[in-house]
Amino acid sequence: MADLNTDVRYLKGIGEKKALALNKLGVFSLYDLISFFPRKYEDRSRFTPIASAMDGESVCIQALAADNPRLSHIRRGMDLVKLRAVDDSGSVDITFFNQPYAKENIRRGESYNFFGRIEFKGGRRSMVNPVYEPGDRAGMVTGRIVPVYRLSAGLNQRSIMQAVRQALDDCLDSLPDVLPEDVRLRCRLSQARYAYKNIHFPPDFEALELARRRLIFEELFVLSCALGRMHRRRSDDEGIRLRPLDLEQFWSSLPFRPTAAQLRAVSQAAEDMCSGGVMNRLVQGDVGSGKTLVAAALIWLCAENGYMSAFMAPTEILAQQHYDTLSSMLSPFGLKVGRLTGSLGAKEKRQVKAQLQQGRLDLVVGTHALFSQDVEYDKLALVVTDEQHRFGVNQRSALINKGSRPHVLVMSATPIPRTLALIIYGDLDISVIDQLPPGRQKVDTFAVDESYRARLNSFIRKQVREGRQVFVVCPMVEENEELNIKLKSAQEHAAQLSALFPDLKVACIHGKMKAKDKEATMAAFVSGEIQILVSTTVIEVGVDVPNASLMIVENADRFGLSQLHQLRGRVGRGKHKSYCVLVSNNDSPEVKARLNIMCKTGDGFKISEEDLRLRGPGDFFGSRQHGLPEMHVADLGADVNVLQLAQEESRRLLENDPQLELPEHRALRQRVDKLYEANSAGFN
Ligand code: ADP
Ligand code: MG
Repeated sequence: MADLNTDVRYLKGIGEKKALALNKLGVFSLYDLISFFPRKYEDRSRFTPIASAMDGESVCIQALAADNPRLSHIRRGMDLVKLRAVDDSGSVDITFFNQPYAKENIRRGESYNFFGRIEFKGGRRSMVNPVYEPGDRAGMVTGRIVPVYRLSAGLNQRSIMQAVRQALDDCLDSLPDVLPEDVRLRCRLSQARYAYKNIHFPPDFEALELARRRLIFEELFVLSCALGRMHRRRSDDEGIRLRPLDLEQFWSSLPFRPTAAQLRAVSQAAEDMCSGGVMNRLVQGDVGSGKTLVAAALIWLCAENGYMSAFMAPTEILAQQHYDTLSSMLSPFGLKVGRLTGSLGAKEKRQVKAQLQQGRLDLVVGTHALFSQDVEYDKLALVVTDEQHRFGVNQRSALINKGSRPHVLVMSATPIPRTLALIIYGDLDISVIDQLPPGRQKVDTFAVDESYRARLNSFIRKQVREGRQVFVVCPMVEENEELNIKLKSAQEHAAQLSALFPDLKVACIHGKMKAKDKEATMAAFVSGEIQILVSTTVIEVGVDVPNASLMIVENADRFGLSQLHQLRGRVGRGKHKSYCVLVSNNDSPEVKARLNIMCKTGDGFKISEEDLRLRGPGDFFGSRQHGLPEMHVADLGADVNVLQLAQEESRRLLENDPQLELPEHRALRQRVDKLYEANSAGFN
């Protein structure tokens, strides 16, 4: 007897070749097969009287074969079977190409269901190659809502459909429900058996909707449980318990007051670190919202408690900038700050490592060099990583594993809609800095087309004459890009600007350069040697060039809004009035609407919500860099309400059974474990 784990080869009609074709689609067991949901559905549930079928309409008809099908060979390798079918209202000419067996299958005087496209030819209705079933045994591919599956070579819709039907017949009864009864009832969801059956073969659209809703919930619930359990494991760990201190001592040393949002983030984090558990917190704040200061306050708290901190930045330049800023904030308290980056000489590296091992530093700022194997820490209590999206989840954990369970603070400037953040960072608590320091000037933003080129060039000239610097960003040109789209490559564009401004220093950073050369060029821009920097998006990360006042984005329609917002954040960081110009020759209304959002608002969260609405979650989940599993039915952008519900329910469940050990959670636990297995690379 077959069960859910049985190989698909077991099924009638699935031989070696079809089995391999199914394997290609990720389907190995009967369970995989019943979880292989249709891509879409075709509504063949209503029958249309022949006489009311319109030209070009796809319809299901119930009709009698009015004559015996006639087979003819029109030329070599081309057979035709023709017949006429009638119902009470009229008649239709039916033709089959290269289906000689239709002649045997269809008999005069018998009733059949046909599904196909009606065409009017010479005043008569005709149908070519319809799907058909005998009227007394109909109900598989006509007269109902029919599933449409993703295919691979060697499979057709009918063979998948038959296989799924068999699998459902054989093992639906043994399908366990991963949703606990109380969750299912509270959320008004259908049972597993009902859902798995009706997602494939729904009798009507209501049943389909009930099935879909349940399966979307199930998928998001399993994901939430997996992330929630992981989170709990970590925060249940015993962590370094710090003594709470009055942070006013630190705040009063600054030339300005922290914003309410900064204060809130710091107190949330400080509470974690004084709780006895391990902190895993994400601080999300728009560019310029002052995240560094939040980190500084917490580093100070650790140092006053006798512990050290490590601060990791994604590039050398950023590490250097953070080193300077943090040193100046912390040195008034006599704290010792060190630096460890790849470019240091061997001797200096050795010195810093010795200092770390002996606990003679309060803070070390660096790049990934911080977690190379030979670096050991004494009394490491806090690990801060900046610009998280630049590090893989794995890199983050490499640093966490240094020392004995340090607290972790992740800082990100990519505003992500809250619901998505809950998934991407499901293992982290989140603090949001939703406020900019006072007196920040808005970056004036304009969307223009090529006809503004001359004016744009004189604007560049004007800014540089006033002593400012200019960023120009071009989209990355993909190797396989269609050639008919004219994109500005960074190098070409830099050459044009050089020719146009022979007296200025124009430089270019592009993807093919070595990291070291990129950094050197960037450093020259930071120091003011270069006036115009043309680049691909490599400058997205938070480098501070307060003197830069103009950001020009070429082919701006090629960027997501969140990305444009990041880019814009590179200017307006100093005291100078700053501008962002989005150049695009694409005049489709959607593109215009998108770019207009940029001109209207400077709020990164609002922009990310819009981005999600307009482009879906792809930009946020892009290259699976977050280590999230692929979703089968759920759409993380669209199913936000269900996601929230699933998260609430998973939290409630884990409250009672943190490790999913209760017997009634066995099926759920198996699914969660399976999800871990399939994603172990990204999840740990
Ligand atoms: P980001 O969140 O992008 O990392 P930074 O930490 O680099 O932002 O801060 C941006 C600038 O704002 C810095 O020059 C910093 O000194 C300044 N800043 C931070 N907090 C405040 C505040 N509360 N009041 C005034 N200026 C602040
Ligand atoms: Mg920053």
